[in-house]
Amino acid sequence: MTNLVTFLVDSAAAYGDRVAVRHDDTTLTYAELDDASARVAALLRARGLEPGDRVALTMPNVPLFPVAYYGVLRAGGVVVPMNPLLKAREVAFTLRDCGARFALVHPLFEDEVAEAATGTGTECLVTEPTAFHALLSGTEPMPRIVERADQDTALILYTSGTTGTPKGAELTHRNLIRNTATTRETLLQAGPDDVLFGGLPLFHAFGQTCALNTAVAAGATLTLLPRFDPLRALEIMARDGVTVFLGVPTMYAALLHAELPEGFDASRLRLAVSGGAALPVEVLHGFERRFGAVVLEGYGLSETSPVAAFNHPGRPRRAGSIGTPLRGVEMRLLSDDGREVAQGGVGEIAIRGENVMKGYWRRPEATADAVRDGWFRTGDLARVDEDGFFFIVDRKKDMIIRGGYNVYPREVEEVLYEHPAVAEAAVVGVAHATHGEEIAAVVTLRPGARATAEEIRDHVKERVAAYKYPRIVRFTTELPKGPTGKILKREISVDSADPSGTA
Ligand code: AMP
Repeated sequence: MTNLVTFLVDSAAAYGDRVAVRHDDTTLTYAELDDASARVAALLRARGLEPGDRVALTMPNVPLFPVAYYGVLRAGGVVVPMNPLLKAREVAFTLRDCGARFALVHPLFEDEVAEAATGTGTECLVTEPTAFHALLSGTEPMPRIVERADQDTALILYTSGTTGTPKGAELTHRNLIRNTATTRETLLQAGPDDVLFGGLPLFHAFGQTCALNTAVAAGATLTLLPRFDPLRALEIMARDGVTVFLGVPTMYAALLHAELPEGFDASRLRLAVSGGAALPVEVLHGFERRFGAVVLEGYGLSETSPVAAFNHPGRPRRAGSIGTPLRGVEMRLLSDDGREVAQGGVGEIAIRGENVMKGYWRRPEATADAVRDGWFRTGDLARVDEDGFFFIVDRKKDMIIRGGYNVYPREVEEVLYEHPAVAEAAVVGVAHATHGEEIAAVVTLRPGARATAEEIRDHVKERVAAYKYPRIVRFTTELPKGPTGKILKREISVDSADPSGTA
């Protein structure tokens, strides 16, 4: 198999009448998804798409996303998914950087993308449902898929990586086929009777590989939720009998504190998978108690297709750990000078294997810096226990240095989550005249809960070494989050003018 779209073609042959994707009352069976994507492929080819050409995709989680996604792949094109919330300037950067031949755009985002496409040479195709449907009906499906080589690029995912400037991680057909197949088989163990929750944004690696591509490879149903909202998520889980929930930690925290609808029944739920950021241990246990399904945490990055490690089902699980490497993937910990760290020590995770990207699109220097001798440097710090379980300590760049001591925010956040009033927490460093940096905690409280800054501070102070507890505690109603729901530390600014620590 040399084209990722083969998963769809095979599932359409085996399970044609089964529902592949659902969004409320709209469903597409495997046969329909296969047919519609073959029409998109024909349409793009008729307009001059050549194999290897980039096609940007701006779409929320609606059935048209997989139709367009598999259509582009089928035609031999390279998919460049864009976050629909990007502003014209950012869209223009992406279109120019990847040299997009086409942009397939949901009408909701037409203004921003059409404006950005002006002068870039990208032809913008707006997928207004009625008109687009008519266009597809008038196009004969492309009879055969365009074969690609293993190392041909299937996808370019724009990511800030560890340096901050957006770069396109080039993932090959082989990267994605292997990562999808192994994740389906060894983590989700999904088959045609499964219903996967589709609330992770599909433009991001986690949602794309672990929800969309694994669902399609399994012949399962993916039930889409365009904008995550805990109540809607609960409704969908009950309505569709979701068997596998996939989410980032902030989704878990939200579901843990949401009121359950009358007669809520999620008895089909058998597995919940978390990734994208650290899942606080308290949240993991709380979710398992509330929903009666095991939660398995995993780890990955856009550059690694994304799955690199997870807690494997049927084997002992370690709460707070990202588990062990996925089959076909190796991980080790390196010191700053590139040497392997002794067992028990903290080092940067390096990853080698069939999931590691080909490189950053047209950025040979950034690629050479990130991938050395086949080992991709992640920028994440971790340690390994005696059984080979990896524990993320923190991101290298989030580490705080207070008075010469390294403080890993994640460790302090775990303690904050143990406080009964805390719903969410983020710990950041604030510039300080004598200590270099000071530890600050920004927290949101659970609905109806109360706590003072002193109480929160003392709760942590009693549980960790003196240099680690937050001298500054601030309350907020909402922490800034990225499109996948990750808490954005760099957007948190704490006014340190009040060193007494009261909010
Ligand atoms: P992205 O490329 O957007 O998928 O982001 C990848 C980054 O997410 C990694 O470098 C980690 O910093 C973070 N990440 C992913 N999974 C986990 C996890 N289970 N625990 C902690 N951090 C994680």
